[in-house]
Amino acid sequence: MTDKTRRFPLSLSSVVEKPGAAARRPGEATSGQTAARNAAAHGLRDALAAAAPRNAAKPASPQGAAQRPAGSAHPAAMAGAGNPAAAVPAGARAAPLVSEAVRKAMVERVAKQGVRDPKVLAAMLEVQRHLFMEPALASQAYIDASLPIGYHQTISQPYIVARMIEVMRGNRNGGVLNRVLEIGTGCGYQAAVLSLVAKEVISIERIKPLHELAKSNLRPMRIANIRLHYGDGMLGLPQAAPFDGIILAAAGLEVPQALLEQLAIGGRLVAPVGARHQVLQLIERTGQSEWSSATLEACHFVPLRPGTV
Ligand code: SAH
Repeated sequence: MTDKTRRFPLSLSSVVEKPGAAARRPGEATSGQTAARNAAAHGLRDALAAAAPRNAAKPASPQGAAQRPAGSAHPAAMAGAGNPAAAVPAGARAAPLVSEAVRKAMVERVAKQGVRDPKVLAAMLEVQRHLFMEPALASQAYIDASLPIGYHQTISQPYIVARMIEVMRGNRNGGVLNRVLEIGTGCGYQAAVLSLVAKEVISIERIKPLHELAKSNLRPMRIANIRLHYGDGMLGLPQAAPFDGIILAAAGLEVPQALLEQLAIGGRLVAPVGARHQVLQLIERTGQSEWSSATLEACHFVPLRPGTV
């Protein structure tokens, strides 16, 4: 399998780099922040109101969620962390402060719902969810709900994104994840969160326009460790296997065998399973031909479908 990296489908960085364009340095503003500008123009005040905690109980303050992980001026977060460069319009300059506050409220809610892993909470705080939404929905980006992204698909609810990643990190390797696979890129949000907890993220989407949407959402963020692949995720990506973790963002009636076989020994797969009534399932590969499985909680995802469109 020495040629697997060469044959690997789509390196995001190779797609997004324009000839002569220097990679953005941490804190450097970009001129491509149309989503941020749009979000600023489309009522981040509403977002702040919408994301305010719904009850007065003081949320648990997740250790580590309030601070950046060491050395992380991560690109997914950079769009809002830029210095106040003169090139950035006033509206966009104001937006990062607001979105940081609403993200913090979102993370506090996720922690209250039971997600404890500080690394996951920190990642959720970093990634600017509103940049993955169309402008009309940006003001709702931080509410605890799944929201439409077109083609009858949704961006997953913040809690479930965090929960699945937390479960995947609960491996016997102390949470170390080298290569992870996501099935169902959608708008690219979960891939961006995953990029902060894994060395390399590979994400597959079967709907071409959504694959393209994720590319354009992620492009300005210049995240070097995400690779997007257009294809049927039910087949996995054997040329890139094994994976230390696999997350399915769509529910099948069962977990495809191909994915179980592409899991590294000791690796964890987290998937919604079922039709109308779905449960989150954790499958751990315990040996060459041994897997263990546990049912975690009820959930609701869009269906996993075969083939590409
Ligand atoms: N991860 C996304 C969630 C996207 S919704 C987020 O961050 O919010 C689930 C996605 O799974 C949809 O875009 C759907 O098209 C995709 N999907 C469903 N079946 C698939 C398959 N077999 N292969 C790849 N993607 C699939």
